[in-house]
Amino acid sequence: MKTYPTRRQFVMITPVVGLAGLSVLAGCSPSPPPPAPAAPAPVPVPAPVPAPVAESAPAPTAAEPVAAVVLDEADPQAVAMGYVADASRVDTAKHANFVAGSRCDNCSLYQGQAGTENGPCPIYGGKLVAAGGWCSVWAKKA
Ligand code: SF4
Repeated sequence: MKTYPTRRQFVMITPVVGLAGLSVLAGCSPSPPPPAPAAPAPVPVPAPVPAPVAESAPAPTAAEPVAAVVLDEADPQAVAMGYVADASRVDTAKHANFVAGSRCDNCSLYQGQAGTENGPCPIYGGKLVAAGGWCSVWAKKA
């Protein structure tokens, strides 16, 4: 059984051992444990930023035709097909299928309007070919 000091004993020993010592004598802890460190404040999470909307050019409409690109004779596909912008320069030794008088504007694949200097050709992805040009894909217009 634990004994507690009397008031008299308390008065006598307090100057010697101090209040902390008294608490030890009384079986108490000298001081309460330090408070647990406060939990860290929650870090604010920034709100998600919406992805920027890419600005893109509006799709061309029928009223806004896509700018046509003129087929270059040096284009690899043009070279492979023997395309020339002037049918008089066809290398007939190399292209035995050349028919005199054949040219783009009398080819079945030519999509240009009559009388224009060039027009789209589907063989070259719609690039403009010269009306007086020629390539080895030429086929007589019906
Ligand atoms: Fe000209 Fe016809 Fe050849 Fe096209 S396919 S480049 S229109 S000859």
